[in-house]
Amino acid sequence: MPEPSKLKSILKAKCPKCREGEMFEFPLASWTKFSRMHTHCPVCKLRFEVEPGFFIGAMYVSYVMSLGIFMVVSALIYVIFNNPDFYFYMIGIPLVVLFLIPVMYRYSRVLFLHLFGGVKYEIQDRTII
Ligand SMILES: [Zn+2]
Repeated sequence: MPEPSKLKSILKAKCPKCREGEMFEFPLASWTKFSRMHTHCPVCKLRFEVEPGFFIGAMYVSYVMSLGIFMVVSALIYVIFNNPDFYFYMIGIPLVVLFLIPVMYRYSRVLFLHLFGGVKYEIQDRTII
């Protein structure tokens, strides 16, 4: 079986160690439960919060994501609506950010764990004893 790519495991919110186990209990589309995360990987039993308060650092990733969204949405509003009134920006940008909160919440945690968690990929032992 080929090694699952790191990019694919990040996009699918998989465990960084086995790249198979789901990090979150419910799919992203479940709007009320999008934040519920497994404490341990269901496949390899890696503890996702590798140290106490680890995911507080994910706020920095979320901050950078929201800055990117601000810039992209501002540019889109500017181009599509031909530089409209200031209030277009004041309403449009927060609406888009509010809509993307579940995505930012999840992917900030996934990216932070994959990039700064210090967890290396390990091939899982499939032998049945
Ligand atoms: Zn795992």
